[in-house]
Amino acid sequence: MSDHEILPNRGCAPPRLSTLAVHAGEERLKPGNAITDAIFCTATYTFPDTQAVLDFVEQEEQTREEYGRYGNPTEKVAERKLAALEGGESAVLFATGMAAVTGLLLAKLKAGDEIILFNECYHRTRQFCREHLTKFGIRTHEIPACDYDRMEAAIGPSTKLLVSESPTNPHLSVVDLERFAELGRRHGVETLIDATLGTPYNVRPLETGVDYVLHSCTKYLAGHNDMLAGVVIGSEEKMAEVRELRGILGAINSPHNFYLLLRGLKTFELRMQRHNENGQALAEFLHAHPRVEKVFYPGLPSHPYHEIARRTMKGFGGLLTFQIKGADWRRTADVVDRVRIPRIGPSLGGVESIIEQPSLMSYHSYTQEQREAVGIFDNMIRVSCGIENPEDLVADFAQALDS
Ligand SMILES: *Cc1c(COP(=O)(O)O)cnc(C)c1O
Repeated sequence: MSDHEILPNRGCAPPRLSTLAVHAGEERLKPGNAITDAIFCTATYTFPDTQAVLDFVEQEEQTREEYGRYGNPTEKVAERKLAALEGGESAVLFATGMAAVTGLLLAKLKAGDEIILFNECYHRTRQFCREHLTKFGIRTHEIPACDYDRMEAAIGPSTKLLVSESPTNPHLSVVDLERFAELGRRHGVETLIDATLGTPYNVRPLETGVDYVLHSCTKYLAGHNDMLAGVVIGSEEKMAEVRELRGILGAINSPHNFYLLLRGLKTFELRMQRHNENGQALAEFLHAHPRVEKVFYPGLPSHPYHEIARRTMKGFGGLLTFQIKGADWRRTADVVDRVRIPRIGPSLGGVESIIEQPSLMSYHSYTQEQREAVGIFDNMIRVSCGIENPEDLVADFAQALDS
């Protein structure tokens, strides 16, 4: 057992999430005897002599670095920590969530293959499949979210991967992960869940048999709206070719970002508890408000996926979407402009609350008809609850809706 694996105390249960978030993946003794991991600002790594070069190239198991595009010591710590949090064998970090998506798909698919996506996947993921994978002869089928029968009917001999997000954004649909994983297994097709909104605190896709879990670490994992990163986690065997391709694509993070990610992860469980608390409190307040038409939040009994969410999620996250009764985009914008705590912007999962109108932000380039076809309406507001005080957030929305 190497030094960076946390030893369970004799007779104790294996370490739980917050203990892993603080300690997993780290050496007990670090350079300079520091308690924190160092930032290695280096493009290359040197060898003491030619024999060391020969030892390195002939070694199967690499214990040192060679060149910055293939790895960095702080990155290895972050990858081990993320794998431990997810309960997976191997994590490969990328420069962004989208670099992780494109890296995984390019590593796993070839001309003639087909992939099937639920249509509430991240819009850039769907765009990449539709506009770019097609150039390499890879076909994509989009199926309405959580329609497992239609997904199954679309599976053919060339199908290589089933893809979904859970929960989805901005509708917060929740995939029945066991059913999704079982569908893949039964047909010998691999499965991928983008669990960015769920996080390893709220959902555990690998434990249900899903093959790959992907996160935009930009969101809850790094958690501070100050950096971008992405990660894919799966078995050692399945991740080997993803790591190999990353070294060729070069979509890697800067040494400073590895440190920021590690720093953010230390408080992961604490932050998630507050994100969940704030999401639930704000969703319940909005649900009861006379000006609100509808709230999308899996923690509300009125949400169509509430039962699946209760069965499969520990908490329901910090993201929610709601609609203002009878409002056009302008009157909806009045509410957005009146809140004092959340800042207006894209992204989610950071300590600062963020608010946006999906029809004006992510879906701006769509026509009205295209937007409505994917369930995006002018009176929708998406809120990413940060870790502020829940009463303050609720009071802020109360004054914005009532004035
Ligand atoms: C943000 C996001 C991505 C893309 O991640 P980046 O780090 O912005 O590249 C992918 N999937 C989901 C669900 C996201 O929210």
